[in-house]
Order: sequence, then C-alpha cells, then structure tokens
Amino acid sequence: MRKKLVAGNWKMNGSLRQNEVLLSDISAAVPGLTCEVAVFPPYPYLAQSQLALAGSGVALGAQSVSEYTQGAFTGEVSASMLAEFGCRYVLLGHSERRGLFGETDAVVAAKFEAAQKAGLIPVLCLGETLAERESGSTMAVVARQLSSVLDRSGVGAMVSAVVAYEPVWAIGTGMTASPAQAQEVHAAIRAQVAVLDAGVAEGLCILYGGSVKPQNAEELFGQADIDGGLIGGAALVADDFLKICLAAS
Ligand code: PEP
Repeated sequence: MRKKLVAGNWKMNGSLRQNEVLLSDISAAVPGLTCEVAVFPPYPYLAQSQLALAGSGVALGAQSVSEYTQGAFTGEVSASMLAEFGCRYVLLGHSERRGLFGETDAVVAAKFEAAQKAGLIPVLCLGETLAERESGSTMAVVARQLSSVLDRSGVGAMVSAVVAYEPVWAIGTGMTASPAQAQEVHAAIRAQVAVLDAGVAEGLCILYGGSVKPQNAEELFGQADIDGGLIGGAALVADDFLKICLAAS
C-alpha cells in the first residue's frame, strides 16, 4: 500500500520569525501522524528549515531548481546545492512556474533529470487551466505534460518521483476539484504510467493540489488514486496544515 504524503508549498511567503513558529509547531505534531510530511520553504530559508527540522521526521523540499549543474547562470540554484541543505524533494512544473515564468514541458523535463541526478525526488506538477477543462482537453494536457518527462527520463525514473495533479483553476482560488473530478485525472495519470510499467504505476505517489483545506481533505484523500496533497495557502497556518496531515493519516 502506498504511504500518504502531505507537502506544504510555502511559495514566496514567510520570514525568519514566522518560520520559526511554523516549523516548530509542525515538527512537534508530526510524531503522532502516519503520513509523511514535507515542507517547501523559499530558498533563503532552507538553512533555517534544515536546522529546525533536524531529527523531526519532517522532510524538506525546494520550490524549483535549475536545469544546469554549475556555472554562469545568475540567479539559478542547482540540485546539488539543494541536496547540501538537506532537501529530499523539489517541486517541478508548478503552474506558477509554467504560467508566470515561462517554463515549458521541455524545461520541466530537463529540471526533472537534473534533480534526480543529484539524488532529489522531483514532485512533478501537472494540471489544466480552466479554459482547457472547459474545452474538454484536461486529459490531453495532463498526458502531454507527463509524457515530456517519461519520454526524456523513461518510466523507471518514476520509481523515485512523485506526481502532483493540480488543476490551475483550483490553485489559490477556493475552487477545489470535486473528489470525483480529481480521482478521474489521478486514475488516468496512473493508467498512462501503467501502459509502460504496471508495477511502477502501482507504487507511484500521486498528490492532489488545489485549495485543499481541513474541510475537504479527508474526502479527497479517500479516493483510490489520491495519495495525499500538495497544499499552498493552508500550509502557512500550522493548525490547518496539521489537520490536513491528520486527514491523510
Ligand atoms: C499550490 O500552490 O500548489 C496550491 C495547491 O495552492 P493552494 O492550496 O493555495 O490552492
């Protein structure tokens, strides 16, 4: 049986002072949970988070990574640097990176490969816009985003990866996908991987993200192919985040 994972994407939020409280509240509660818990603070707070989370069982992740390994790439952060700060995970292809910063499927696939080469576990975000859902192309969009990684890295790479289905229209909007809508896409993602390798598909952790709150988490996480959540806004409030972790436990 797949273990559930709840991952908190802090986006560009926080301060040394605020993080101190949030990290300490989360680490204190995690021993009582059976799901895996991970937090994704902004880059400058990785050192603080690494220290605060040491020995807590809470995993650390980064919100993006460079596709390059080293050199004259001003502003970029390499996967090996993230590994040095204790990161286990890295988010890739978040819709804000795709939509606001022009990350293409090809760039996401290159970053996926760079992350795995440094021993990080990519959390590959996939999802359709509202216009794409309304035009009936959800499955095609998600399949295309996933294919770009499968084509480049092969299905074997999915053994050490996590997928997050995040409908763009549900991110930060309060409009959650219904459990049935989410389950339908999760099942399709697993089926796409299963065509290449049924064993890899069965073991693949697929998170749902998009306005997950304490009130809707349990029903979402109760779906057969939903293995936990990628949480944005609610991950900044310890009480809400921990209630969501409890729902996954
Ligand atoms: C996200 O940004 O990955 C996300 C799911 O945000 P929210 O939970 O706020 O919708």
